[in-house]
Amino acid sequence: MNLILLGAPGAGKGTQAEIICEKLNIPTISTGNIIRAALKNGTEMGLKAKEYMDAGKLVPDDVVIGIIKERLLEDDCQSGFILDGFPRTIPQAEALDAMEIQIDCVLSIEVPDEKIVARMSGRRVCPCGASYHTEYKKPKQDGICDICGAKLTIRKDDEPATVLDRLHVYHEQTEPLKDYYAKTGKLRTVVGQEEVADTTKLTLAALGI
Ligand code: AMP
Repeated sequence: MNLILLGAPGAGKGTQAEIICEKLNIPTISTGNIIRAALKNGTEMGLKAKEYMDAGKLVPDDVVIGIIKERLLEDDCQSGFILDGFPRTIPQAEALDAMEIQIDCVLSIEVPDEKIVARMSGRRVCPCGASYHTEYKKPKQDGICDICGAKLTIRKDDEPATVLDRLHVYHEQTEPLKDYYAKTGKLRTVVGQEEVADTTKLTLAALGI
């Protein structure tokens, strides 16, 4: 299955992606994680992306389109993939169409802005890419990653003021993708619930898996 996850930052796309990834054994491709890894490794692309990311703005389309083009060619994507955080603009969606890769389903996870702001303040991340929440997805040991044992931190772009900027960017540039994909008949919508397990039930039902 080739799947796109849409939703505001903090709507729970990453968590649902992990669950689907495990169930279907297909990779999750998160442009945010790829960019953060590039930044950590000090690559030119990572350094260029940093100023946009820190300000809660979108990285230019040509940069992320280049990342996705390369990544989707890799072997592990040939039997399916989950796109988490791409596309985020109409030109990115058009570039994906131009790659002539069949998309089976676009799942939009809907969470009201007030809830997003409250949720983001509890998000904790690990340099290995794992993500937790102080209330909804606690690590086994407080502040420590279950997977690699590193100390969890707050993402710079999860600071409240930046979250508001990111939500603004989402509504302006990413939300129009719902109409774009509704027209193809591939859009399915899930209302994000308080409990991850409840959202997961809705997600799996929407995907028929
Ligand atoms: P995320 O981890 O998906 O919330 O992404 C973190 C940040 O990476 C975003 O706020 C953007 O600055 C950048 N980013 C990730 N994916 C994209 C994309 N598809 N288009 C533009 N910028 C992106």
